[in-house]
Amino acid sequence: MSQRVAVIIVAGGKGLRMGLNIPKQYIKINNKPILLYTIDKFYKNKYIDEIVLVVSKDYINFCKHEILENYKYNNINIIEGGKERQDSVYNGLRSLKNVDIVLVHDAVRPFVSDNEISNLICETNKNKSCVLGVKVKDTIKISKNNIIEETLDRNKLWAIQTPQSFKYETLMKAYENAIKNNIKATDDATLLEILQEEIYIIEGNYNNIKITTIEDLEYAKYLLFKED
Ligand code: C5P
Repeated sequence: MSQRVAVIIVAGGKGLRMGLNIPKQYIKINNKPILLYTIDKFYKNKYIDEIVLVVSKDYINFCKHEILENYKYNNINIIEGGKERQDSVYNGLRSLKNVDIVLVHDAVRPFVSDNEISNLICETNKNKSCVLGVKVKDTIKISKNNIIEETLDRNKLWAIQTPQSFKYETLMKAYENAIKNNIKATDDATLLEILQEEIYIIEGNYNNIKITTIEDLEYAKYLLFKED
């Protein structure tokens, strides 16, 4: 592929929902931080030319010395994150030069597969913005003060994951629009939706979990054991 492809791995969160004193991406499983399992997936993918790792200011030195040097990665650019995920992604975007396709991925999703990464990139190469997602298994309702207001049609619902993959210029345009209009979102696709951009969902895998709670951590240990 002649297009230049980068991934922004966002690891700038504090992971407070886990209730531990260390952000979840640095928790070790089998003596290796979760973040490194995630980096490995992109490091090994044949299409990825560049990796930007976005971390909070307090962890920049830790990542440079304890993580990247110890595990002998090269060509990974570490930059400082922002207050919200969206700010961290934007810092990552601004650090990139001469990139055609950019993927954004949560550091706490180490179970994305090589095929999924390649599929996303190949679709974006054909000018499609795309995200991974899985069909929702539960019935989803909207409530106010724990009283149900509405039940959504499950046949139309997807749980959207990362990586999300875009042409660099399309994503940058969406971010600049968000800043100009003070729009906040919890994923990148939302910022394109606002501009009426078409985004494809590639059906992914239920194992591509975002490690968020202690229960997720136990499941992650089991999945890593299975991957070995
Ligand atoms: O908290 P949330 O589930 O939205 O986090 C998703 C990803 O975004 C995590 O990998 C987290 O480290 C990252 N993040 C970030 N900068 C922030 C907040 C979250 O890079 N300020």
